[in-house]
Amino acid sequence: METTGLRDRLMDGLDRFGAAMRAEVRRTVASRGLNSAQDAILRMLLARPAGLRVQALAEHLGVRQPTVTGSVIALERKGLVCRRADPADARATIVKVTPEARAQPAAAVPSLAAAALADLSEAEQASLLKTLIKLIRTLQLRHAIPPQRLCVTCKYFRPNVHPEAAEPHHCAFVDAPFGNRALRLDCGEHEQAGAPEMARNWNAFMTPAPPWRSGHDIFLAGRVVGSGGQMPFSGGRAEPVRGHSTRGRRRSPAPNRCSGSHANRLFACKGDIHAKSEPC
Ligand code: SF4
Repeated sequence: METTGLRDRLMDGLDRFGAAMRAEVRRTVASRGLNSAQDAILRMLLARPAGLRVQALAEHLGVRQPTVTGSVIALERKGLVCRRADPADARATIVKVTPEARAQPAAAVPSLAAAALADLSEAEQASLLKTLIKLIRTLQLRHAIPPQRLCVTCKYFRPNVHPEAAEPHHCAFVDAPFGNRALRLDCGEHEQAGAPEMARNWNAFMTPAPPWRSGHDIFLAGRVVGSGGQMPFSGGRAEPVRGHSTRGRRRSPAPNRCSGSHANRLFACKGDIHAKSEPC
């Protein structure tokens, strides 16, 4: 089977789509008095209210530290970021967005790319998201990119634990079900899972359980009695989750699921989970 040619064509396609998006972003951010690097830094920091070190910014953006330093200085002059000593290490500096940056209207999503994606069906979009997550996870495992805040690497992720096809996964942070279309690529509430837990979750994510295993709902807290804290579907005897023990019954939205009164406007929030805001 010829796979090299296919991979070449995929690389070519991804490159063309990325180039079109980057060109549009350049045009859009120029109208806001920014360049692409400054816009990328701002978006990265808006999703991280606690701020980031310059070195971490450079790693996330895949550029050299002096490049980030130059952009940070320019953003500081515009009053959009501030630099503070890192409480964890007085020699290091943390860069954070200012209240002025948070008050600015959210950057527009590139309309050409959005229009092209809108031409895909819902199922195609969800499938594409799952494929992108797989690619990003592979890059992370190969240490080609810094750790990303993906659902599939999060300790709160419980893949394929609900019988509903539209929302088979569970987020233990907000204690609510969600579907592939809501899988996060950069979640403010993400906490890195341990390697064994991540591997088990990945297997469960890629191989959905047959409908429907007896007692699926008792796994929802990821708590298994008498099995040394094994994760869901690991075969131990599970303890029912408080308030979550009736098969087929859905919980009401968790208290920290967004009520619409959020301060962080980076995410186009539609009752989705989002990062908490923190003053500069
Ligand atoms: S939504 Fe956030 S907190 Fe919940 S599983 Fe995904 S990354 Fe983790």
